[in-house]
Parts: sequence; structure tokens; C-alpha cells
Amino acid sequence: MRLCRFNDNRLGLVQGEDVLDVSAALDVLPAVRWPLPQGDLLIANLDKLRPAIEAAAATAPRLKLAAVKLLSPIANPSKIPAAPVNYRAHEAEAAADPATFHGQHVQRITDVGLFLKSNSSLVGASEGIAITHPERRTDHEIELAVIIGASGHKIARDDAMRHVAGYAIGLDMTLRGKEERSLRKSLDGFTVLGPYFVTADEIPNPGELQMTLMVGNELRQSANTRDLVIDIPGLIEMASSFYTLLPGDIILTGTPEGVGPVRAGDVMVCWIEQIGEMRVPVKAATAG
Ligand code: MN
Repeated sequence: MRLCRFNDNRLGLVQGEDVLDVSAALDVLPAVRWPLPQGDLLIANLDKLRPAIEAAAATAPRLKLAAVKLLSPIANPSKIPAAPVNYRAHEAEAAADPATFHGQHVQRITDVGLFLKSNSSLVGASEGIAITHPERRTDHEIELAVIIGASGHKIARDDAMRHVAGYAIGLDMTLRGKEERSLRKSLDGFTVLGPYFVTADEIPNPGELQMTLMVGNELRQSANTRDLVIDIPGLIEMASSFYTLLPGDIILTGTPEGVGPVRAGDVMVCWIEQIGEMRVPVKAATAG
């Protein structure tokens, strides 16, 4: 099942080039009031939602996917854990580029673990990203995003995939500079998720997915998730050995080699095998 959030917070079931507006299925979600429960309500209730979505699809209005405004398919994660350098070739690339890494030693994931991005940085493909510091480099990082389904703490490697609800394409946008990584990667719009959410049953082997990122017609990043230093079960085991993972948490698995700058007017064309294509515009900063 492929689910998107579109336009004015509508729920969409993606079928090929079309989106079925199945927002009526949202009625099965529990009514909540302050304080809101931690974690994403839609992902936490996905099993209950599935039959409601299938029922709603029978009479749902049909739209063109290309014509809707795509928001982040996950609305309310409790956190966005992200892997630093987690592809061997990107590690070599980073080590060979002391100027852009300010002469620091490249931090290896096996030493430094994971970092967190702000939830408020999360947007969908159609919202795009803004260049707010034009005097500095803003870099693209395509990553496979793993969405947690069932919550868990100290999850064993062998159980890890049972905690995965599904996948999406992630963009971990990065402002280059000397500040803490979590600050430079948490600007508004710097976590793009989409184009939609693909449930785990559709991708039986996420450890072998090809991905590419193009800026215009220029191929910048091309890699396969089989080259991850720490694979998906390993990332879930590591993250949950420190904190509880909750439904809707978004694990960004790390970017491969080929990171590079984007400028206002660019369009990033991201593609991951078995998920699809996500086009993300880069805009100039708006005043205020
Ligand atoms: Mn990254």
C-alpha cells in the first residue's frame, strides 16, 4: 500500500499515476486532545486503517498524483534519528575533502552513533526547500527513510524488521559549516520525506535498493543500500539501545557518495527502486 498526505491534509492511496482520496478512512483514528500521544497516530493505527482505506477506495474521488501538493506522508514523528557517514565510499569522499569538513576527522558511525534532526524541519516533496544562507553551501543527501511501526526499546537485530512499518525517500539537507550537525540539518524544510509512504510488505528486501539523485540533468548520487556500513536492522538495534522507538519515527539511514550543493531554481530528482521518483524544488529564501 502506498499512502500520501496531500493538499489540505487529505489522505491518499496511490495507484500508479493516480491518487484516490481516501480521507474518509481517517474516521477510524481515535479522537485525541491535549496532551497529544507521542508518535504518529496514522502509523500507530495502520492495521485498523488498512481495511478502512480499502473500503473508502471503492468510492473515492480519483486525482492525478502529479497534480496534487504532496506533504510529508508522516505528519507527527516523535523524532527523526539520522545516520552520519554510513556508506564506505562517502566516508572516503569525506576524508578526502578536508576543506569542506573543516579539517575535522571524519566521524565514523561506529564511533559517534546517530544524531537527531528537528521534527519542524520535516516537509513533503511539493513544499521544496529554501536557501536561507546563500553565502554558504546547502548540500543534498538522498537517503532511504525507514518508518518505525511498532514501538520498541532494546530491539534485537533479529526482531528489527518486525518494527518497520514502511519506507520513503528522505532528503537530509545540510548547511555546511562548523556548527553542530543537528543545528545545520534542522532548518525549516531540511528534511524532505516522500513522495509517499510505501508499506513494508511491498519492499521485502530494503537492503538491496538502487537509488539516484539528479540535479536537473546532472547525476550526482548513485548507490545501493547493500553498501550501508550499518544496515537497517543494525540501525534499529543501535537506536533502540539508547531510546524507545515509536510509531512514525523516521530513521534516515545515511547518504552515499556524491553530495553536492544546490541553488535556488534547481530541482532535485530523487529516485529509489521500488518506491519511485520524488521531485523537490529549491527556492530562494522568502523575506520574514
Ligand atoms: Mn545524512
